[in-house]
Amino acid sequence: MEILKGIPVSPGFAIAEAFVIASRNLDIPRRFINESEVERERDRFFAAVKVAQDDIRALQNRMEPEIGGEAAPIFDAHVMILADSSLHDEVIRRIIENRFSAEYAVSRSLRKFEKAFYSIEDQYLAQRVADIQDIEQRLLRALLGERTHELEELKKRVVLVAHNLTPSEIASIDPNYVMGFCTDVGGSTGHTAIVARAMEIPAVVGLRGISGDISQGDTIIIDGNRGVVIINPDSETIVRYRGIADDFHQFEQALYSEKDLPTVTTDGVKAVVMGNIEFPREIEQVINSGGKGVALYRTEFLYLASKKAPDEEIHYQAYCKAVKHLNGRPITIRTLDLGADKFFQKEAPMHENNPQLGCRAVRYCLLRPDIFRTQIRAICRASAHGQVSMMIPMVSNVEEVRRTLDLLREIQDELSTENIPFDENMPIGIMVEVPAVAITMDAYIDLVDFFSIGTNDLIQYTLAVDRTNEHVADLYKPSHPAVLTLVKNVIAAGLKYNKPVSMCGEMCADPIFVPFLLGVGLRTFSVPPPLIPEVKKLIRSVSISQAEEIAAKVFTYNDSRDISAYLRNTTREIVPDWAFM
Ligand code: PEP
Ligand code: MG
Repeated sequence: MEILKGIPVSPGFAIAEAFVIASRNLDIPRRFINESEVERERDRFFAAVKVAQDDIRALQNRMEPEIGGEAAPIFDAHVMILADSSLHDEVIRRIIENRFSAEYAVSRSLRKFEKAFYSIEDQYLAQRVADIQDIEQRLLRALLGERTHELEELKKRVVLVAHNLTPSEIASIDPNYVMGFCTDVGGSTGHTAIVARAMEIPAVVGLRGISGDISQGDTIIIDGNRGVVIINPDSETIVRYRGIADDFHQFEQALYSEKDLPTVTTDGVKAVVMGNIEFPREIEQVINSGGKGVALYRTEFLYLASKKAPDEEIHYQAYCKAVKHLNGRPITIRTLDLGADKFFQKEAPMHENNPQLGCRAVRYCLLRPDIFRTQIRAICRASAHGQVSMMIPMVSNVEEVRRTLDLLREIQDELSTENIPFDENMPIGIMVEVPAVAITMDAYIDLVDFFSIGTNDLIQYTLAVDRTNEHVADLYKPSHPAVLTLVKNVIAAGLKYNKPVSMCGEMCADPIFVPFLLGVGLRTFSVPPPLIPEVKKLIRSVSISQAEEIAAKVFTYNDSRDISAYLRNTTREIVPDWAFM
């Protein structure tokens, strides 16, 4: 039994067999197979050889018109190496004798050949190392392509183990079979984590190398509350965790039974709890959890699902579906926030050394008015059917807001001319997630109708900590006094000018921050749907005067650790029966 500690990103418990997904960067983890799987791995290897050879011939045919027959010997050499019986024998020996997966056997065998070529003191042969590397990557891609496919077709309950998973990969898995997942990399507010929470899949990330330590079929416990992963637990531990999982389930059931109680503090102040969604299908969950509507619809998932630009009709249909499901409740549609962790960099439209500070969200949209215009037209059209607001992400200056508003007015004129209905008074808001905006709120007050605080990004940009980087996860502190001061100032600016300010960052879904946020004046919380009952319960358990005292006390501390310890203790006092705090 081995116990590892990572970053808890989605609560709950899972006990199941490991399903290891080989790494995307083709650095293959060591994975062992059972005797019964030897035949299958052998067949997979030969199928991959065939795919790789076909790929090379197809490439050769494509390139011949441009480079003539000059490259033919290179292509022939690659096809020949792939057909070489000594390569086959080496890989098959490792599958049979060492019980390596086909991927790992390929990787080990080709690296052995590489070494042998390196040690030859012949310039020509030494240069052939690149060919061997190319063949290794080709074979691995063929094998991994098949594994991705396998992932979609999973038909037994597993815990996924991977170097990394993209948000769209998580969104495409079937939660009936994936009981939980753990990854080498990632942080608590990366989009993979956010999607996991929305789908209620227990998850731990940032385990640094776990995908190389776990073999296919190992038993894994995921403790998504404490960020613990246990590999091959003993029977006592399994029994103990089954008990904990049952208690947690009962705790959640009890919260759900109170979800429709009014969201009013003990001294009678009303608050509103809404849901954050990535797909229209989550609206059902928002309503079933007692949410009053959607204050953040992350539309970039329309993109991530199809990997190409959706046309106006796809946008429009998705928004109409959402509006219809909400049946009169409000929805805030956020314009595309593509970029940073929402792309894997190989899918990104441009190479960036530092994508979190790069061409993301509104910056990207303003660079691609064709894409932006298509989406805004669809949002305007959907606004004719319900209470729709539009929100702009990652704003860092007034110019971006002005340019977006100009484009919006242009589109509205166009729709009027075409006699297409839309809501002329559709509220327009911005996300406050870049410190520059949080510090100069006055500049935006007359430009927009509302603000929403995106703490996931506000924390990363205030503290200079990449939200997806497990190596600096310890520095990603929502309780940092600088972050809390900015949050307080943004809410105060909204109150001063009578402009609505809500929060849709994950901070307001963490129970320990709820009393503090009430204390600095926040009244609209937007959280992942499964967490709505929990946030409502906390709001019902505290008074505003108590919350204001808590907020005042917080600002007497300088150290984020003191603040989180204080907030944890006070929350325990407010809801003493929450054993899972
Ligand atoms: C945020 O940054 O807090 C936010 C809600 O936006 P996202 O997580 O989609 O970047
Ligand atoms: Mg954000």
